[in-house]
Amino acid sequence: MSDVTPRPERGQLRASASSYGASRDGLPLTVYGPRTRANGRALWLAGIHGDELETIAVLSAAVRLVPRGELEQPVILCANPDGTLRGTRGNAVGVDLNRNFPTSDWRPGPTHYRWGSTGPQDVELSTGDEPASEPEVSALLSLVEELDPDPLVVVHAPLGLIDDPTESALARELAEATGMPLAGVGYPTPGSIGTWGLETGRAVVTYELPDADSQSLIQDHSHLIAGYLRSAP
Ligand SMILES: [Zn+2]
Repeated sequence: MSDVTPRPERGQLRASASSYGASRDGLPLTVYGPRTRANGRALWLAGIHGDELETIAVLSAAVRLVPRGELEQPVILCANPDGTLRGTRGNAVGVDLNRNFPTSDWRPGPTHYRWGSTGPQDVELSTGDEPASEPEVSALLSLVEELDPDPLVVVHAPLGLIDDPTESALARELAEATGMPLAGVGYPTPGSIGTWGLETGRAVVTYELPDADSQSLIQDHSHLIAGYLRSAP
C-alpha cells in the first residue's frame, strides 16, 4: 500500500462518483467510492446539517488523501446540499433531516436547536410532514438498503465526542484515536439516524468534530479518517 496522495494531486476529488437521488431543490445527492454491497464496508457521511460545513471539508480532505483507486468505503460528502448552499441546519423547507428518520419516537411538529454553542435550544425547525418525508432522507435510506453498510459513520460538529450507544469496536477505536470521549450528545434526538439505527439493528457511529476551525480539524482528523476509508472490507 502506497502512502497518502502526493500533495500536488490533492486538489481534486478523483474518486468515482454516482448519484443516489436528488434533494428537494433538485440538486444531485452524490456518493463517492464503491457502489457495491460488501460486508464490512462502512458508509461515511457529512453535511446532513447544512451549517456544519467543517464536516464536509474534513471528509473531503480525507477522501483526497486516499491514493487514486484505493477508496474502499463509500462516502457522502454532503447529505443536505440545499441546506449547505443556504448555510442552514435544515433543508430547503426547514426540516432538520436528522429528525426526519422513521423511528418509533418520530413526532410531527417543531424541533429546536441551539443558536451558537451555548444557550437554550430555542431555534425552530420542523421534523417533516411524516417520517422520511424528505427526499434527502428517503434517498439515503434506499442507498443504505442497497449497500448494506456496517457501520454508518455520521460526521457532525461541534460537540467533540464519539456517540454510539452500542459502544462498537469502531466507536471505541475512534474515541481512543481522537482523544474524544465516547459519550451521548446530552439531549434527546427523536427521529435521528442514530435512533433509527438502534431500532433497525444498523450500527451508527456519530463522529462529532470538536469546536475548531476547518484547517485545524483537517489537520487533526483527515489522516485518521483516510486510513479507514482505504481499508478494504
Ligand atoms: Zn449536526
